Amino acid sequence: MQNFAIAIHGGAGTILKSDMTPELEKAYIKGLEDALQAGYAVLEQDGSAINAVKAAIVVLEDNLLFNAGRGSVFTKKGVQEMDAAIMDGENLEAGSVAGVRNSRNPRELAMEVMQHSNHVFLSGKGANDYAIKQGIKLEPDEYFFSQFRYDQWKEMRDSDNYSLDHTHQGLEELMKDKKFGTVGAVACDSKGNIAAATSTGGMTNKKYGRIGDSPLIGAGTYANNKTCAISCTGHGEPFIRAVAAHDVSCLMEYKNISLQEAMHEVVHVKLVEMQGEGGMIGVDAQGNISMQFNSAGMYRAMQNSKGDREVGIYKD
Ligand code: ASP
Repeated sequence: MQNFAIAIHGGAGTILKSDMTPELEKAYIKGLEDALQAGYAVLEQDGSAINAVKAAIVVLEDNLLFNAGRGSVFTKKGVQEMDAAIMDGENLEAGSVAGVRNSRNPRELAMEVMQHSNHVFLSGKGANDYAIKQGIKLEPDEYFFSQFRYDQWKEMRDSDNYSLDHTHQGLEELMKDKKFGTVGAVACDSKGNIAAATSTGGMTNKKYGRIGDSPLIGAGTYANNKTCAISCTGHGEPFIRAVAAHDVSCLMEYKNISLQEAMHEVVHVKLVEMQGEGGMIGVDAQGNISMQFNSAGMYRAMQNSKGDREVGIYKD
């Protein structure tokens, strides 16, 4: 049996220790640990990488602290439109949804698209209709509401700006009640299969049906047993233009470099040149994990069967 491993993230951005209260830091760490534990338990019981990322993401989507599922940010129109994707590195199957409303776990819907729709990517009303048809668990708007996100949006709604849920002006003011973070997971199971998933409410005050990198296969989410599984977080537009997740895979495949080196090139060189603030987590089919970011912080955690375990928030 080979090394198995999982990594998760809960968003990247201007996350500073000086802005954090001990209680809030504890709550984030617990949120990350709960999700890590849920995903790792699947791998420990010989479960698949795809089921491990699924289990981890559900815990993060259900946690109000993170910008995915419950607790998603508000759009310009004052509603929550969520994006999610999942990809299986064993067979390159993928499913994603964008601009969906009321699905309790948008990642669940993305998986349904992957397994049962004959399509890869559904959006907006069509995706919502598909959720109803497939019996995906729905929740009323109030379920997704959080006061912090609402206040964050109120600060911006009269402007044309949009922002990463954790990078904006007046941070000190708004950070009193900090709650943010797109979520993602990557895993390698004991058979050497890998998978990735990402889920997000996107960026505060987004409009015109804006879709970020998270649900775009190759940009924010990608998995291929030959190379790596990647989940990104950060300012989606540069990540889309950089085709960031797939670029890591290409660097590994064509240049024959390691996951660590390929991610370094994309996160610390290419994305920096494009002002692409954020980071990503990755795993290869040997169970090697890398978690890299060019922002002040990234909520992150990893665990593998060799006994390594790490939970972090800031640069250290
Ligand atoms: N990448 C996400 C987006 O642009 C946001 C995030 O990662 O926080 O929609």
